[in-house]
Amino acid sequence: MLPVIALVGRPNVGKSTLFNRLTRSRDALVADFPGLTRDRQYGQGKVGGRPYIVIDTGGISGDEEGIDAEMARQSLQAIEEADLVLFIVDARAGLTAADEMIAKYLRENDKKAYLVVNKTDGLDADAWSAEFYALGMSNEPYKIAAVHNRGVTAMITELLEKL
Ligand code: GDP
Ligand code: MG
Repeated sequence: MLPVIALVGRPNVGKSTLFNRLTRSRDALVADFPGLTRDRQYGQGKVGGRPYIVIDTGGISGDEEGIDAEMARQSLQAIEEADLVLFIVDARAGLTAADEMIAKYLRENDKKAYLVVNKTDGLDADAWSAEFYALGMSNEPYKIAAVHNRGVTAMITELLEKL
């Protein structure tokens, strides 16, 4: 069985952009508005000769109704299916209530989850790092810029070694 990596986080943090990087595909829809990926989407990738499965999700926004509720349900399903969860937050937007809710869920459900701070391009690390520690995730956050493919290979290589 290949290791399964789920990408979770609120809408618009860059999950689909990261999915495309990790699978070297353009399959996931990337958009400037949240919520485009409503269903779980599966892809396969490989780093250093090690293959893995990635699941992209629509995202969890916190107060779901209608289609948002379905997106959140799909995200929770992906978390259940995963060996490893990448919890993505947005360095530009900063910490949000939805981020806190997702962190709480991951902690309470004892999932193997790692915090990933995306969109760090052009930002001073001091400007964003402190507030995300409040999420109480156990790892030193991975700092990436998915759109520039920065930090992605190093992150996934290290994570696969932990499995
Ligand atoms: P999702 O809703 O979490 O799947 O987010 P998307 O992957 O659709 O990305 C939402 C927006 O953020 C798009 O406009 C992306 O181009 C942009 N984005 C994604 N990654 C980065 C990044 O590393 N840096 C910057 N500046 N923008 C990014
Ligand atoms: Mg998406």
